[in-house]
This record gives sequence, C-alpha cells and structure tokens, in this order.
Amino acid sequence: MNMFNLRRGIKFIVAVIFYYSGIFVFYKRFIRKGKVTILMFHRVTDTFFDISLLVKKNTFEECMKYIAQNYPIISMDFLIQNFDKKWEDIPEDSFVITFDDGWIDFYESAYPILNHVKTPATVYLTTGFVSSKCSYWQEKLNNLLTQILTNKKVFLKTDNIVSTPEISLKLRDLILKNDGMLITFKFINYLKEFPHDKILKTISDLEAILNKHSMKISEDKHRSFANWDELNSIKDSNISFGSHTVNHTILTNEKTNVIKEEISKSRDIIEEKTNRNVLHFTYPNGNYNDDIKKIASKSYKSACTTKGGFISKNSDIYNLNRIGINDEMITDWKGNFSKYIFTFSVFLESLKK
Ligand SMILES: [Zn+2]
Repeated sequence: MNMFNLRRGIKFIVAVIFYYSGIFVFYKRFIRKGKVTILMFHRVTDTFFDISLLVKKNTFEECMKYIAQNYPIISMDFLIQNFDKKWEDIPEDSFVITFDDGWIDFYESAYPILNHVKTPATVYLTTGFVSSKCSYWQEKLNNLLTQILTNKKVFLKTDNIVSTPEISLKLRDLILKNDGMLITFKFINYLKEFPHDKILKTISDLEAILNKHSMKISEDKHRSFANWDELNSIKDSNISFGSHTVNHTILTNEKTNVIKEEISKSRDIIEEKTNRNVLHFTYPNGNYNDDIKKIASKSYKSACTTKGGFISKNSDIYNLNRIGINDEMITDWKGNFSKYIFTFSVFLESLKK
C-alpha cells in the first residue's frame, strides 16, 4: 500500500467511525437541520489535467443513485422560490445539484444519468465556451506549459518570456524551482490575480515563443464544451441553464464596465440561444465583492460562490455556498463510490464557512 492509498484508507476508517458515531447523530439533528446542500460539479470524465475538477463517470452514477435514494433533490428554482418566507416548504436535508462551465461531458455523461434518476440540475454556462475546443485558459496553459517544461533550457535562456515582467519573473522562478506538475497549478493560481486580458496575453506570448522555436503545441482533438444544439436537445424541464459569464473572467480583477458586460451579456446570449429564462448565476472561481453582487442582483434571482458550507433561510441569496465535489472526495482507496466518504467529506466541507 503506497502513501496515497494509506492516507485514503485511514480517511475511510475515520469516515466509517464518523458515520456510526454520536457526532453524526448530533450533526444530522443540529448542524444539518433546516439546511440545504448545494453540490458543485465540473467534469464527469475519467481523465483531465486538473483532478480537483473531475468526478469519474461510474463514481458520478453511484453518487447520484445514492443521493436520489436517500435525500430529496430540489431544483435551484424551487430553492429560490421558497427562500426566506416559505422555507418550511423545502424538504428536510435537501440537495441541489449544479454544474459549472458547460463541459461536453455534462451532455454526454452526466445528463443521461441525471435523466435516469429523474434529478433536477442547473448547468451554469460560460457562453464564450459553448461549442469550443479549448477556451478554458487553464487547460490551454497546461498544454503550453507541458511543452515548455520539456524544453526548459530554451526558455531559461530567453529574457522576458512573457511581456508582463512580473509574470515573466514568476514563471522563470517556478521553472527554476522545478516542482514538476505543481508548476502548472502554482502558475495558474498566480495568474488568477491578474485581469483577464493580461492572462490571455500571457498565453499568446507563450504560444509565440513555442512557434518561434518551432515546437508543436499539443492541441485537444476533442471538443471540450457542449454546443447549443446539444444543450437545446435536453428538452427535460428538470435541467435549467444558469449563467457563468461570457469569458470565465475573474470579476474581482476587472473594471465595472467589464463586470457589467460579463454578467448581463451571458444571460442575454443563453436566453436567445435556448429560448429559456435564465435566473441564476455563479461567480467564476467564486470571486465576488459587494459591487459585483449588486450588479448580479440586477440580472439574476440568485448567485452561487465556490465556498463550502450549507444554505439556511438566513443565507445571502447572492452569496450561496456550494460544496465542490471531486472524485477523491467521494471514493474509497479502491476508487469506488463510498457513502461513508461522501457523508464525511460533505461534513468537512460544510465546516468551511
Ligand atoms: Zn467555472
């Protein structure tokens, strides 16, 4: 048993003890009482460079079956309609299922499972991603950095790899520290502090360097995001579409005019393309502030963040907590869905308020 499996084995034992202990009874009776859990999924696929965003197809199927058999699942619309005044109408221990970004695997893998268990869900679409192969800058950057890291020497010889000097220095520093795969994640996190146009410029600078040295940029052969025809073919009224901006811009790094455009234009596009009302919004990367919240409240009935925690009748409707789920959080050391680990992980995430 390697360290990774050992850690997961220990987590499993702790989760089983938790499930049958007095803490769980206390948690169910007092902490979860009168609360709603909004789950956040991204990709339902077996491989992706960022494992924090994926749940494997089998895991997702078992997870949905488990939730559907053991808890009420309500739609985002139902939650918002009953918020505050009619909170008693919301069944005890309810779950809301949400997906961010509009990946193609929502359409190919998640939707058939949701349809099978007759479960409502809301998919928050980034309109600029719809139909595209690789518009998610993190994914693009990962492909570029994979190339760059195999040709480190060329890049270390080049001054100002990127036109923004501080970004260039940071990348050089990360390459020199030689953290392997962590370089990508550290660099992505670092870039999240910058306005979207600077991030895109960094990516085009890196592409230019690769081209200059005639290095092939590995491209995805498969389309990453669902297209409008696929989204429109989901006639099931159980699935609703929300908005997640046009470009997945981290709104806290932008000026007011960009924020307004990202927030309202995405709604207009989805309404026009799908002929459905778009009532709900999620902040890219979960980032917002009071001004952004105010702007969102003019176009939507609710807005979700990526912060853990449950929803109660006193929650802020434009700052709704969600519990992000990935494969490791709900599977045992063998990679199989485990109700013990699922329950324990939701409990742990609910403490992150
Ligand atoms: Zn997103």
